[in-house]
Amino acid sequence: MVKVYRDEDADLSTLEGETIAVIGYGNQGRAQALNMRDSGLEVIIGNVRDESYQRAVEDGFPTYSIPEAAERGSIIMLLLPDEVQPEVYERDLKPHLDEGDALVFAHGYNIHYGFIQPPENIDVLLLAPRMIGRYVRELYVKGHGAPAFIAVHQDASGKALKRLLALAKAIGATRAGALEVSFAIETELDHFSEHYVAPLIARALLLSFEVLTEMGYPPEAVLLELYMSGELSEVAKAMALDGLYGQLPLHSRTSQYGQLLYAERVLPDGEKQLIREIVKEIQTGVFAREWSLEQRLGYPVFRKLWEKAMRHPINEAERRLRELVSIRLP
Ligand code: NDP
Repeated sequence: MVKVYRDEDADLSTLEGETIAVIGYGNQGRAQALNMRDSGLEVIIGNVRDESYQRAVEDGFPTYSIPEAAERGSIIMLLLPDEVQPEVYERDLKPHLDEGDALVFAHGYNIHYGFIQPPENIDVLLLAPRMIGRYVRELYVKGHGAPAFIAVHQDASGKALKRLLALAKAIGATRAGALEVSFAIETELDHFSEHYVAPLIARALLLSFEVLTEMGYPPEAVLLELYMSGELSEVAKAMALDGLYGQLPLHSRTSQYGQLLYAERVLPDGEKQLIREIVKEIQTGVFAREWSLEQRLGYPVFRKLWEKAMRHPINEAERRLRELVSIRLP
């Protein structure tokens, strides 16, 4: 059974006298910094001098260059895009890490695949909210929080878990529940959702759009039916709250029968072989090496994939539908 920590397991006073340096004031950085400050922690920001830097200043944070924030902080929360972290770490963070400092990640990728190798005399922690940054903040403000995966990779201070739990409490994660995993589990599961579940849904929608429009259905009507009304996202929310099958009674009996009847036909059990292959590519680092090479070469494949996606007629059909129908989500 996975271990779950809640508010009562965490003590904010563990972080008394510590300065939390949030490096990167983007999606996660801003949300986590605001939550931690509201929880009474001493938070400073490190960012390159750009709009995000300005926003941190406007939000009232002591804001510095990345190396200066790293120098001032005893807990460094690395909330930059994963692909820029190794370079920024080597240049701007590593020279400022003191014995007993903590380096905290929101995704295990760079540690798990060895792109960042911190010194042994610091704590290396994972606090990975399972939620986009905006809602990490919104849920906290409403008195709740986003659940998170947490992990200790290195405990040099002897109090790594206590520090991590206090941080999890400060961002609101232990209000919902913080699940103790490992850097490997967080990274591999995260990539699995991105390599299988998300593309599967997107591809099913795209192929359905292509075939239905070829068969003469109006593109705008197809899109409204498939996902653009927002009903699909409400169904996804209901799955989170009530369960995969628990949400079925929200649909008509005809819909329930259709969904249950066609499920195995559209995705037979044989598909599990592909699932295993995709997991193996993640576990063996095939994807991480390919993505790393792609970055070094200047993103040639990534760019081509984007160009192909943008040429698809679905984009134009979406634009037309948005002009015809005003879509507001509840
Ligand atoms: P963002 O893309 O929002 O960027 C974060 C910050 O990095 C911004 O302030 C950005 O500045 C700055 N930045 C971008 N490029 C550079 C660079 N080359 N050098 C220095 N600073 C740079 O990141 P996220 O918040 O999405 O991701 C941060 C971490 O959180 C990642 O590890 C990610 O995997 C993890 N995570 C993200 C989630 C999410 O909701 N997005 C969910 C859970 C985990 P500017 O905006 O001015 O470019």
